[in-house]
Amino acid sequence: MSEKSIRKLLLVEDNPGDARLLREMFNDQGSENVELTHVKSIGDAEKHLLDHAVDIIVLDLGLPDAQGVSAVRRTHAAAPHIPLVVLTGLDDEVMAAQALQEGAQDYLIKGEIDARSLLRSLRYAVERKNAEEALFVEKERALVTLNSIGDAVICTDISGNITYLNLVAEKMTGWPLQEAAGRPMAEVFRILDATSRETIPNPMEMAVGENRTAHLPPNCVLLRRDGSEIPIEDSVSPIHDREGQVTGAVIVFSDVSAARAMTLQMAHSAQHDFLTGLPNRMLFNDRVSQAIILAPRHAKKVAVLFLDLDGFKHINDSLGHAIGDKLLQSIASRLVHCVRGTDTVSRQGGDEFVVLLSEVEHPEDAAITARRMLQTVAEPHSIDPHDLHVTVSIGLSVFPDDGQDAETLIKNADTAMYQAKENGRQSYQFFKPAMNVRAVERQSIEESLRRALEREEFALHYQPKVNLRTGEITGAEALIRWTHPTRGSVSPAQFIPVAEDCGLIVPIGNWVLREACKQARAWLDAGLSLGTMAVNISAMEFRHENFLESVFAILGETGLDPKSLELELTESVLMKRAESAAAVLQTLKARGVQVAVDDFGTGYSSLSYLRKFPIDALKIDQSFVREITIVPDDTSIVTAIISMARSLKLRVVAEGVEKLEELEFLQAHQCEEAQGYYFSRPVLPEQFAKLLKTGTPVAAVYVPS
Ligand code: C2E
Ligand code: MG
Ligand code: MG
Repeated sequence: MSEKSIRKLLLVEDNPGDARLLREMFNDQGSENVELTHVKSIGDAEKHLLDHAVDIIVLDLGLPDAQGVSAVRRTHAAAPHIPLVVLTGLDDEVMAAQALQEGAQDYLIKGEIDARSLLRSLRYAVERKNAEEALFVEKERALVTLNSIGDAVICTDISGNITYLNLVAEKMTGWPLQEAAGRPMAEVFRILDATSRETIPNPMEMAVGENRTAHLPPNCVLLRRDGSEIPIEDSVSPIHDREGQVTGAVIVFSDVSAARAMTLQMAHSAQHDFLTGLPNRMLFNDRVSQAIILAPRHAKKVAVLFLDLDGFKHINDSLGHAIGDKLLQSIASRLVHCVRGTDTVSRQGGDEFVVLLSEVEHPEDAAITARRMLQTVAEPHSIDPHDLHVTVSIGLSVFPDDGQDAETLIKNADTAMYQAKENGRQSYQFFKPAMNVRAVERQSIEESLRRALEREEFALHYQPKVNLRTGEITGAEALIRWTHPTRGSVSPAQFIPVAEDCGLIVPIGNWVLREACKQARAWLDAGLSLGTMAVNISAMEFRHENFLESVFAILGETGLDPKSLELELTESVLMKRAESAAAVLQTLKARGVQVAVDDFGTGYSSLSYLRKFPIDALKIDQSFVREITIVPDDTSIVTAIISMARSLKLRVVAEGVEKLEELEFLQAHQCEEAQGYYFSRPVLPEQFAKLLKTGTPVAAVYVPS
């Protein structure tokens, strides 16, 4: 600040002599460019200040309208930011001191003023006022900052007593600044370890003692004045004076409830299934591993139950995912009720649940739980507006017998579950090592199946269907045979399901159809009376989008009359997506292709349902034919099927006829056709041609009585 910056000076002085004296002093010092305004009272000064800017005010404390402190106050009120120097009498030092306290920057004693000291005093007054203003602004800014940040701030002196709390700190600790000031830090800022509940040494001591920034250990809570708690994170830094000496500390801390809740939430969702809230695969595996370690200590076993809902996909597809989701939630909560608190029910995704029974005495205990689960899941689930019925299949594995680690136990329980499905749904099945052998075998079948077509390892055998009144051959059923290069002959019952699973059934089925049509055409061309050629069509082939196209293409290619072709489909193939199945059958029928329902009686047989489909024949499954000799009376299923079929005007073919007894029963009940070893096994084409020429060698039965 230079003298030059004092341009406008306001002199408030009622004594004309004193005023003149001061003016002269300015002139003496060559400060003519200081514009001096002289007023004689506070009232005038106030008026002047209203519309004039000044750089400094020189105020006499003995004015007619105000004296001493009140003169200072009024001036200050009129011009709070303008530096003020007061003039006092020789014996008025007390008043001068009061003036300084009220905010004047300096005082001059009348009679002792000389020109030089006058100017110096004015200059210092301006400088001091500027510094004060700057400090004020700085302090104000710091305060505003401290109160507007989201963090809590507490300052202490060197002995750890509180000197400052910002608003957030007041709110978080529950201590207002006025009450906290001067108290030891440990009284206001009390921190505990959230888990051990032990008091944590105040980090301030470390900051001050070691003169470095310190942090609280993780997982701390602040114990508030009212006894409630807030999880916090903090850092503490020492405060230094100009010499670098520690004079106190500042603690900055924040409420991390939200962040900690978020972390917990994230940890939870990483380990739980979002839909049911059950532990997920990851957490489940951990729990199984834990149980495997703990169970042997109490001489206990561990059981893993693998559950898969039967036909869940159907519910999802037909009623929608929202209903499917609710059903899964309902099942989840029922399963949880079937186990103890120490057991774990998890969802592995989809409609699969895996359950850990952490301590079981005997495998039978796990079977009891499995049965309970079968039962409670099967009870209707009321999911508005539906009453849903669903069943579950369960596979069980037991530690240590069926596996030494979580992964193996779960895998083996899964394998056992598949077996349970095959045994008939809504059942449970313990794992057996042979199941794995089967799984491996399946894998190896799949690999060699992929090459079987190009290596020409397939052949067709033909089995005659016979008219039970005349004994004549009414047709052939083409049955595939696979000669594996090392295994030899593999039964279709073994490889057809594998081919279905891996999609190979489509090219294989096409090959069968083409081969059978070619053969039929060849026999017809040779003048043999074949009747129909029946070909088995599996579910996946039937649903394949090109199914009809390839059937008609092959018929065209081989030149076989569609009327000579009969397709054998199982009931379940027709029942699933009945609408589109019916449409496909209509198209076949329109071209003259015949359709038979194979293995009738083993599926969801509903004759009224079958009415919807344009079918020509029913093939009674072998298992019912076997029954004939066990219960040879009119109440057998076979008789029921025959009469139902007749009412629907369908041809009936009995499969697997092996004994004369069976044949006679069928004849007696007007079954039209039959097929079975009794007449002929499936044979090579040359042998079949012979049969066509000579008839089956059992004509004796048909001698009319
Ligand atoms: P399926 O269509 O019901 O065929 C009848 C099965 O019963 C044949 O078994 C046949 O050899 C057997 N069989 C016939 N008469 C008797 C008898 O008197 N006693 C006994 N115990 N069995 C008899 P195969 O050839 O092993 O075929 C099994 C199944 O594999 C077939 O059942 C059919 O579903 C399927 N299959 C066979 N060939 C094909 C094919 O080319 N394509 C498709 N998709 N499936 C086929
Ligand atoms: Mg068949
Ligand atoms: Mg059959």
